[in-house]
Amino acid sequence: RRKHKVTVVGSGNWGTTVAKLVAENTREHPDLFEEDVQMWVYEENVTIAPDSPHYDAALGDEPQKLTKVINTYHENVKYLPKIPLPSNVVANPSLLDAVQDASILIFNLPHEFIGNVCKQIKGHILPYARGVSCIKGVTVTDDKVELICEYISESLGIYCGALSGGNIANEIANELWCETTIAYNTPPCDQRPQNGNGTGTQNGTSNGQQDGHFRDSRGRPSATELTPLPTDYPPLDHAELLKLFDRPYFTVSMVSDVVGVSLAGALKNIVALACGFIEGHGWNMTAKTAVMRRGMLETIQFCQEFFPETIQEMTFWESAGWSDMIVSCTSARNWRYSKMAVERGVSLHEIERTELNGQKLQGISTTKEVMGFLKARGVQGKYRLFQAVEGIVDGTFDVENIPQLFRS
Ligand code: NAD
Repeated sequence: RRKHKVTVVGSGNWGTTVAKLVAENTREHPDLFEEDVQMWVYEENVTIAPDSPHYDAALGDEPQKLTKVINTYHENVKYLPKIPLPSNVVANPSLLDAVQDASILIFNLPHEFIGNVCKQIKGHILPYARGVSCIKGVTVTDDKVELICEYISESLGIYCGALSGGNIANEIANELWCETTIAYNTPPCDQRPQNGNGTGTQNGTSNGQQDGHFRDSRGRPSATELTPLPTDYPPLDHAELLKLFDRPYFTVSMVSDVVGVSLAGALKNIVALACGFIEGHGWNMTAKTAVMRRGMLETIQFCQEFFPETIQEMTFWESAGWSDMIVSCTSARNWRYSKMAVERGVSLHEIERTELNGQKLQGISTTKEVMGFLKARGVQGKYRLFQAVEGIVDGTFDVENIPQLFRS
């Protein structure tokens, strides 16, 4: 019987962390997975500092290939320094070689690169490969909301679930305990009989199973004709995904609400901006919790208004819901820089220019896109916090007026 070959597409801070924990698990489950985990690395040159244990005096500060450094020293010196990686994480600079023959593809890179990656690998992956996207964010236009995992599914013709949670890569890489959520709707064509009856899916609410046809994450019949996972592979369902991702320091909950998990992971960035504004203005934790609560209500309202078929309210109590909201509103980038903007009395765009070296804050584009989508439907007034965040970003709403939103 064959085993699943696992490839992590991406090797930044989070990609390398996920490659580490997955590789620890492939070692522990040799019956299910090939031991080596391929990790695609966007190749670049790195220089090893003289105080690093990997410094080679003969090479001095001569630049070296990042993949070679990772495979020699088992450390991603650029994106996850000082964390030893298991030797079965194999850094590969060739995207096509890394994904070849992989039955499980874990997408983990900044969302702006996923389009190009999918274009390159289309037609070069196993037709029955399955994906898990660890990428946060959604693409929202005036016409539609597109989840990253849906984009991957549609552009590659494979099924793809989503992993999201209140996760900070460096903490998990240091094996500080936290939890996460994986949303995965096992396609009916992959389900195997268990104990003579039923399917392998733990969560019987999977929308993929309603009428024997595969449905996408919103419950619509999928345009994609999925190729079934051959039966000489181990099954790939919630139980096997737990074996691949769950670690003593990383507790995984499996759910089937792909839309809820993905949208909670994206809309929280709008709320994080609001919390930064609040704190920059001089209000404190109690004001932030009011904004978080309001932001969560608007997030749930958005999901229920536009995705009523599949949304499950319990999703927002998972790590992908409240935990991610709290982490993002107290310690992550969008919060930090929006706080700084108000403290300095400058716009967020100015902060992007001066502090982020031209890099973009994801919360700003998410706010603009979501508001564009709501305005196109004439319902923006029902989302007063989201609307206020857009106003603050544009300079048309004053942070001081946020408490007014809480008075009906
Ligand atoms: P990162 O900024 O650490 O990684 C950047 C990666 O992009 C590097 O591997 C780099 O080589 C690669 N890259 C640069 N240019 C590229 C190009 N042109 N094409 C392809 N790749 C290129 O990013 P990250 O923190 O690993 O984040 C990846 C995803 O994980 C994001 O969606 C993020 O929201 C999510 N996430 C991150 C964390 C975290 O703590 N870092 C936690 C949870 C989720």
